[in-house]
Amino acid sequence: MANEFKNKNEFKEEFQRRIIERYGRSFEQAHITEKYMILGEMVRDYASIHWNASKNVVAEKQEKQMYYFSMEFLMGRLLTNNLMNLGIYEIAKEGLAELGQDINELEDLESDAGLGNGGLGRLAACFLDSLASLNLAGHGNCIRYEYGLFKQKIVNNEQVEVPDQWLSLGNVWEVRKPKHAVNVNFGGHVDMWMGEDGKAIVKHVPSLIVRAVPYDMPIVGQNTNLTNTLRLWSAEVADDACDASSLNEYVNEVREICRNVYPDDSTEHGKILRLKQQYFFVAAGLNNIIESHMSTYHTLDNFSEKVAIQLNDTHPVLCIPELMRILMDDYKYDWDQAWDITKNTMAYTNHTVLSEALEKWPIQYVQDLLPRVFMIIEEIDRRFKYEVSHDMGRSDLMNECCVLKDGQVHMANLAIIGSHSVNGVAALHTKILKEDVMKNFHDIYPNKFNNKTNGITHRRWLLYSNPQLSNLLEKTIGPDFKANPERLQDLMKYVDDKDLQKEFMDVKMERKKILAAYIKETLHIDIDVNSIFDVQAKRLHAYKRQLLNVMNIIDLYFRMKQDPSFRIYPRTFIFAAKAAPSYTFAKEVIKLIHYVADKVNNDSDVSPYMKVVFIPNYGVSIAEILMNAADVSEQISTAGKEASGTGNMKFMMNGAITLGTMDGANVEIVEKVGYDHAEIFGLRADDVALVKHENTYDVWRKYNENANIQKVVNSFVDSTFSNDPKDFKQIYNELMFKNDEYLLLADFEAYSHAQKNIEERYRNKEEWAKTCLINIAQSGYFSSDRTIKQYADEIWNIEPVNMK
Ligand SMILES: *Cc1c(COP(=O)(O)O)cnc(C)c1O
Repeated sequence: MANEFKNKNEFKEEFQRRIIERYGRSFEQAHITEKYMILGEMVRDYASIHWNASKNVVAEKQEKQMYYFSMEFLMGRLLTNNLMNLGIYEIAKEGLAELGQDINELEDLESDAGLGNGGLGRLAACFLDSLASLNLAGHGNCIRYEYGLFKQKIVNNEQVEVPDQWLSLGNVWEVRKPKHAVNVNFGGHVDMWMGEDGKAIVKHVPSLIVRAVPYDMPIVGQNTNLTNTLRLWSAEVADDACDASSLNEYVNEVREICRNVYPDDSTEHGKILRLKQQYFFVAAGLNNIIESHMSTYHTLDNFSEKVAIQLNDTHPVLCIPELMRILMDDYKYDWDQAWDITKNTMAYTNHTVLSEALEKWPIQYVQDLLPRVFMIIEEIDRRFKYEVSHDMGRSDLMNECCVLKDGQVHMANLAIIGSHSVNGVAALHTKILKEDVMKNFHDIYPNKFNNKTNGITHRRWLLYSNPQLSNLLEKTIGPDFKANPERLQDLMKYVDDKDLQKEFMDVKMERKKILAAYIKETLHIDIDVNSIFDVQAKRLHAYKRQLLNVMNIIDLYFRMKQDPSFRIYPRTFIFAAKAAPSYTFAKEVIKLIHYVADKVNNDSDVSPYMKVVFIPNYGVSIAEILMNAADVSEQISTAGKEASGTGNMKFMMNGAITLGTMDGANVEIVEKVGYDHAEIFGLRADDVALVKHENTYDVWRKYNENANIQKVVNSFVDSTFSNDPKDFKQIYNELMFKNDEYLLLADFEAYSHAQKNIEERYRNKEEWAKTCLINIAQSGYFSSDRTIKQYADEIWNIEPVNMK
């Protein structure tokens, strides 16, 4: 058993045998997708040996386990990652090569598992990789979406959304587990009566029952035997759940629960559907954990000693009332005991301070869809109010912080009240939570709040996606940084080494050529690999200020057109970003980028000095070739708005210089590398707060003061870029008639100046390389291994599992 990855010959034999067995064809006759499937299955089966052993060891040793509840896991591709983590990549590659098959072709066939929108979902994926690689028993719990986040196409310069059929070839990594299926109940009413012991008996009589079936994916770590599980729930029709007359309706209702990552929530139907999704994966996941806990311990008294649940943002916060429901209704705990167990189990991570992103549900929705859960939320709210006003004498805080107000359920408030830990995701973000956004809660629960600065897995984002740099690092400082990324610090000794600086620039050039080839192949645009690659890759959002970047480009364009003696160091401005389908402003910015690109790239005066490129369909696989080819990392959000950012860390680790504001984790990046080795500009978070508080900012004054700004802003509405007067009107209006909410004009001159500095830096290649090397050397802190160790020690209280 399991000799197939011992050596090339055994691998080849097994591979060929499986192809014949499965498809009745020889290796030569097999289609390339069949080869991909077989390789995937072999890797999965290989991982399964440790998978099963892991479950047994964890149960036998009664190890505490953590479950990461997240609506999103942006996993990307897994074949390379799994082969590498299992240490069998070379054998597979060489074996396939001897059979005449390039492994890269198989790797490229895999679809990204795009079960998420952006940073929040990618964080969850990085965490799973770190958990397994640190031998920590931690699992993911999510939904098995039929379609991932939409694919982005650009048609006539505009974003068009196309369904992402990531399952069309099947998902080789998943194993369907029907025996662990559970029912999830919605709607209906609640019956209550008095039991013989005088306690209330509560029965939820649902109007909709959905069968939740888990699909498990093994999560393997690097060089470890522990294999964890990502459990994805799929909604299916339950037996006898309804009468035949409404069968079609019922089937549709069930199907749509798992259809999309983020259903359109601009309609009432869409909102209720999202709430349904949330309860669906929460209830299925929790009931399953309880069952498994009961089979090991036969009691729930010790539940919080053996189970930790991390709530990734407010999306899974229904975990709190649902656990209360299970403990009280199904296991007869009284309120106080149930509340202790629940609070000690749950911990909540906040990801945003944008008020429009803090989830609130109309009370009516929750009451109709989840009548029993709603009763419990009401009781949580009632007891909280009593505690704060009566026990603490702080009725002043009561109304601010309660769960039910203005006809809505405030999910973040429920999360804070029902958890023992509330964490922000970067030092500045946590500070803002404590001192501003959640100040009242911080007064009530000063000890609940803590910081866990985000991280990225250095395995995917450095070792596997940038082997050129990884090899150079190994040659310079030895291999220790691979298992212990903090050892990247060892590079500090060599940052002045001229040979290393040169070798680093060569590696960067190789990566730039790979990206340039991709751009040539997919977009038919030639870019100059000797130009500065300036990259802004992230979701499109007003607060991330892609528009500020575009405004600087337009300004440079005008100035070069006007003054033939003004020329910049050649620069390629690269954008990659998806806009939410209903976010019209963001879509306008994407359109503007394309119009500006058309103008600039086709102007022979200017195009030798600058090109503008928009890479469509930004996702994990694009990020893997984009981040490591960048010279400049654009992290220019309005200070105070970006909770952490993780893209900034990926760029840093691959030797790009941060051009950014003092926002999110940029602050900690600068702390590590020093102000000399980042290009920081603009208003600070407290400046922004002051400007807003004192209401002193006037966008028109900025506009009138600066002729360059004026010209740029006017270009949105004159016919510089588009002859259609409707185009970019919204951008103009957002800026000029909402007093520039995100302070683009306020930061424009500082940004333009910072861009000038970047250029000066780049002219001195040795100093530039030194700065990049310092960034790499200091990036170990931003490995998610460090983040996960902190969660494990300070929140979850779990330790590495000894598999022997
Ligand atoms: C890292 C990553 C993000 C997060 O980027 P930010 O710049 O931190 O917003 C989003 N999407 C993908 C595909 C990523 O890999």
